[in-house]
Amino acid sequence: MAGCERAKTALPAWVLGELEDAERADLAGHLATCEACRREEARVAHAVAAMRAMPELPASAMRKERALAAARGAVERPRHRRLRWVAAVAAVAVVAFAVRQAVHRPETFALRVESVEGVVEREEAGRWAAVVAGAPVGEGVRLRTAAGRATLMSSKGDRVVLDVDSEIAVDATTEVEEGILLRAGRLWCEATKRSGRRLVIRTPVGRVDVVGTKFEVSYR
Ligand SMILES: [Zn+2]
Repeated sequence: MAGCERAKTALPAWVLGELEDAERADLAGHLATCEACRREEARVAHAVAAMRAMPELPASAMRKERALAAARGAVERPRHRRLRWVAAVAAVAVVAFAVRQAVHRPETFALRVESVEGVVEREEAGRWAAVVAGAPVGEGVRLRTAAGRATLMSSKGDRVVLDVDSEIAVDATTEVEEGILLRAGRLWCEATKRSGRRLVIRTPVGRVDVVGTKFEVSYR
């Protein structure tokens, strides 16, 4: 079994213990060397366990399968039944992933440059380059002013003005927080009222939890 794509295709059958010996040995070899596929295996196992906790799904699928086989008067080879069963599990696993991602990966907090005065730079692939209005500033991306200033809008409608000699980065969004790291300088923020995640402006030495109003944060 070469490659992650084939490994991922085989994972539902692996989790169900439905693989032939040779396929199982190949996949075991791949999993021993591939962390990404081990993570995927854990996700598939989780989805299959969740599916097994919903008895009506596999039970009705199997009843339907038996009814069809009886109606045709045919004796199916076990492998065909098994493959169909594996395909049904894989489909349910995909649905489970989609639901999980919708629930646990809400949209990420990001900024967009609304206007610049003077030169404002964004770090791209380790290099600083000047930005113009409209430039996105996504998670982990740094933005700095020297003699310039920048006005930014967040994906939630917060307005942020970055003063001269300042630098920010967009923090990683978590389940409960989103916001900005002020690495140096000063910013003014007009925060929108929000439900859900809290807006947090951090500096290297502290943080401001925003309830929703206008404020200024400095880090010199
Ligand atoms: Zn892999």
